[in-house]
Amino acid sequence: MPTDRPPQRTPLQGVRGRFHGRGPARQQGSAMSQSHRSSRISGFHKKSPAERLAIVSEFAGLGGAAAAKLSDTGNLDLDLADRLVENVVGSMNIPLGIATNMKVDGEELLIPMATEESSVVAAVCNAARQCYDAGGFTSSMSGTLMIAQIQAIGVADPHAARLRILGRRDEIKAVCDGCDPILLKFGGGFRDVEVRVLDSQGGPMLITHLIVDTRDAMGANAVNSMAEKLAPHIAEWTGGRVYLRILSNLADRRLARAHAVWPLDQIGGEAVRDGIVSAYHFADADPYRAATHNKGIMNGVSAVVLATGNDTRAVEAGAHAYAARDGRYRSLTRFEVTASGDLSGSIELPMAVGLIGGATKAHPTAQACLKILGVASAERLARVIAAVGLAQNFSALKALATTGIQKGHMALHAQNIAMMAGAVGGEIDRVARILVERGTVRQDVAQAILEDMRAAAR
Ligand code: NAD
Repeated sequence: MPTDRPPQRTPLQGVRGRFHGRGPARQQGSAMSQSHRSSRISGFHKKSPAERLAIVSEFAGLGGAAAAKLSDTGNLDLDLADRLVENVVGSMNIPLGIATNMKVDGEELLIPMATEESSVVAAVCNAARQCYDAGGFTSSMSGTLMIAQIQAIGVADPHAARLRILGRRDEIKAVCDGCDPILLKFGGGFRDVEVRVLDSQGGPMLITHLIVDTRDAMGANAVNSMAEKLAPHIAEWTGGRVYLRILSNLADRRLARAHAVWPLDQIGGEAVRDGIVSAYHFADADPYRAATHNKGIMNGVSAVVLATGNDTRAVEAGAHAYAARDGRYRSLTRFEVTASGDLSGSIELPMAVGLIGGATKAHPTAQACLKILGVASAERLARVIAAVGLAQNFSALKALATTGIQKGHMALHAQNIAMMAGAVGGEIDRVARILVERGTVRQDVAQAILEDMRAAAR
């Protein structure tokens, strides 16, 4: 495997060069023989995306068509992709759908959702339609506070050291606020300090929490910088050794909340309502069910988080940690019956999202999605996302408590199966329709239908 830097070529020239004479003689599309393959590629990060793609193509035996797909970065400029993450060779495009019918705090909204899963966008549209006339969703937020943790170990007197840190509040505030004057300008900055003595396998640890208002930023970089700057002071004041200095993704000072009432006549009567409430009771009592219940919520949440260029893993980690805050993993939503007999749904979860920083500003599609949403603050974005999570969960529970989840999934799922069977263009819809009519959505059945269809057309 060559590790020197080949001459600059466009992505496809680079790939073709290796398959058509300039590279080692081997058949197009065939992988390098196992004995010649090595993942130890020195200087890979210093190469251009085209050069990296050529190397990967040779390593994996990618054909020209597969390599061309990778190098077609669509609405993301290749240079920008190369700046966002390391060792870029291309981009992975995900469909962007728009959920309609959403009304949050009286405001009409169209919701951009980036997801590869069928039925997710439709679920939000359906849930929102069924509570639209009753006012849609209301929302609120606990604030935009993030937590950074500083870990100190080997502290001889952890309880006394705790008080020493708490007594330095003004000094701590000055150090933290000195890290980010821009954040201060926008009304954010240090808000509080808390110190916990944590029992651990390695003995007591002293954990300092910096509580920071990060306003319209998710805030990871801001609070991490503050924690790193304060760490030597913590070591000095406690006599301990400081190791970790990093934000907590359990952003429980940044809770987004949403609520909606679904009138009985909109959802199909008492049996449906009671089925949804019972489904919530099931999830709240059983972690096996709660994991799937909350995964459904995150189908909606993560799709908007991704569409707006925010960090899906940060929000997911926060949501699941919050769901387990009582020591048992539970539902992030609650469903109850109102005094008038309608269905009331609510959600509360950490929502560390921003309009500034990360890919939110850099990615042109994220910018377009934020414009579609029309949100003027990170708080507003977080509240809307919470409403989307609740909508998603309502639709999933309604389907599960009535017809089952597969019926709604079937049409789009059948299209995926048709494509997997090799259907192209107009064939996809025709094969999918027959699969749904037969009630058997399987790849082997799709293949048989496709073969019959093509034979009949000959
Ligand atoms: P950032 O540092 O790029 O931008 C935030 C900064 O922008 C602020 O600190 C402030 O200086 C400035 N700013 C300008 N206008 C502002 C306003 N109106 N409100 C607030 N700040 C304003 O971004 P970030 O939000 O600090 O970091 C987000 C990125 O960090 C994400 O990409 C995330 O993936 C990544 N990250 C996450 C973790 C984690 O979740 N554990 C850890 C490290 C990094």
